[in-house]
Amino acid sequence: MRVELAQVAGFCMGVRRAMDMALDASMHANGPVYTFGPLIHNPSALSLLEARGIRILEDIPARGQGTVIIRAHGVPPQAKERLDRAGFEVIDGTCARVVKVQMLAYSHARQGYTCVLIGDRGHPEVKGIMGHAGDRGILISSEADLEGLPPLGKYIILAQTTQDREYFDNLCRRILERYPGGKVFNTICNSTNKRQSEVRRLADRVDAVVVVGGRQSANTRRLAEIVTESGRPCMAVETEEDLELGWLKGFKRVGVTAGASTPNWVINRVLREIEAYPGGSESAFMRWSLRALRFLHETNLCTALAGAALALSGVLMSGPVPPAGDIVPWRTMASVLSLSSSALYLVLSTLMAACFIFSMHTLNRLIDTEASVYNDPLKARFLEAHQGTFITTCVLSLLISLTAAWALGPPSFLILLAVTMLGVLYSVPFIPGWKARRALKDLPGTKALFVAMAWAVVAFLAPLGRWPLSIDFANWCIFFMVAVLVFMRSVLLEVIDVQGDKIVGRETLSLILGEHKVLDMVRLLAGMLVIASVGLTLAGLVSRLVILFSLPALWFMWLTRTFAGHRFGQNLKMELKVEAGFILFLISVVLGRSLMG
Ligand code: SF4
Repeated sequence: MRVELAQVAGFCMGVRRAMDMALDASMHANGPVYTFGPLIHNPSALSLLEARGIRILEDIPARGQGTVIIRAHGVPPQAKERLDRAGFEVIDGTCARVVKVQMLAYSHARQGYTCVLIGDRGHPEVKGIMGHAGDRGILISSEADLEGLPPLGKYIILAQTTQDREYFDNLCRRILERYPGGKVFNTICNSTNKRQSEVRRLADRVDAVVVVGGRQSANTRRLAEIVTESGRPCMAVETEEDLELGWLKGFKRVGVTAGASTPNWVINRVLREIEAYPGGSESAFMRWSLRALRFLHETNLCTALAGAALALSGVLMSGPVPPAGDIVPWRTMASVLSLSSSALYLVLSTLMAACFIFSMHTLNRLIDTEASVYNDPLKARFLEAHQGTFITTCVLSLLISLTAAWALGPPSFLILLAVTMLGVLYSVPFIPGWKARRALKDLPGTKALFVAMAWAVVAFLAPLGRWPLSIDFANWCIFFMVAVLVFMRSVLLEVIDVQGDKIVGRETLSLILGEHKVLDMVRLLAGMLVIASVGLTLAGLVSRLVILFSLPALWFMWLTRTFAGHRFGQNLKMELKVEAGFILFLISVVLGRSLMG
């Protein structure tokens, strides 16, 4: 079965901003943090906020203390004044597009216009806009309301931002026919518009559509209505637990869309459950390939393969392959496999890097499960279900890595030992912080840097088998280029994980600088890497193979385009694409080496 995710699905700009404000306040505000009413209409997101200590303020008390966040729907001006008077610090999360409607209502009401609002009775956004229109507001929430419409003089028509365009146009036409001369402001949010037009097109392309979102969410309900009107079967679910998988049987293409208040992690879970449904119609080969890729992703073997590819590329680039050390079991294994000493060296270097990277990444994932639950819930679940196996495999991998380093010689072993100790220290809190003791991983914006340095040392410096002071200029150049490549990789992966990191309060570069700036930084680094690799090669300062650093750099530069757009529910694809950069690098180095001799 093919699963197609709508291009516009999940948090819209306004909801995302309000959510970010609430999470920021939970980390930095003094005193209790409240949202005035439920921040969004989604139970998963609400329980997350509750877990972060953010409570819901239903009524405004005479006196209060702490911070109150006004949700994206906005409030009537009187409510805001009462919150201020009660003594709360008020953070206004009203979406800019809702503010625009409120201001249209307010300014026209002051000029003597009647404000006719087409919207859902009782919806918080509608209450807020009506509050701004004062006693000049009239609400039309159904065609029946048109009957009771009083004679209108000067008037304007506004829309609740989540109204359906066709419905709004139809009501406007009927009002204007009755009372010509009114000014119409189409204030339907573009995001809602796009989402609704897209679901119509999606329903045309697929056999059935799953709509994900809270039952109380008006825009999610509207999406389900549009699908039903199109004649396609529709299943509306709040989370993956509501999915009736048997319902999917027989459909070849299933579309998935989600309301503006549906968090990414809920969409991810629903998508992965549907994709994993075995009653699909794809070929056995496709099914097994997908399963294999998922396995590589969920076990972290994919990351280990990327590390191995990088180590092998580095070793092949650094000059003639030296003979391996003299550890008896390795020698025996090499003679059994009829490996030459140089081939054994390549195997040991690759094994050392791959096992170390696998071990450290998996240990970190096992220790630090908080963000994974939101970023990649299925991977988190897989790790949790096989925790014992993973811990044993991690310890074994680390031992294999250290033994391989020992076989490569004392410099390799000591360098790897130092990085291992740093790797363990990375997650252990030992730095006194302002709230609690912090670990190296908690230092803001440093994760990508630490990972880059660790990978570069393990995948390039340690396999060289030399003490750092005896390493020549050409190899230092390769070392820094490897570090820059890994840094770009880590930053791109941070962009995928931005929502979960935000939720658990982790300060990654993507969160500190913003996703767009971080992607610009990756483009800049990729450009610099291309220039450096070409420049150094043309100047004859490094091996001719160094020019091949341009390929993974250009690959990452190209990936920034994909990352800048739509990425919900695509952790698997996107992580695989990022790691593929290193495989591409290895292939080019192997080909380059055989062509250049
Ligand atoms: S749907 Fe549109 S108007 Fe409503 S919060 Fe989202 S971006 Fe703002």
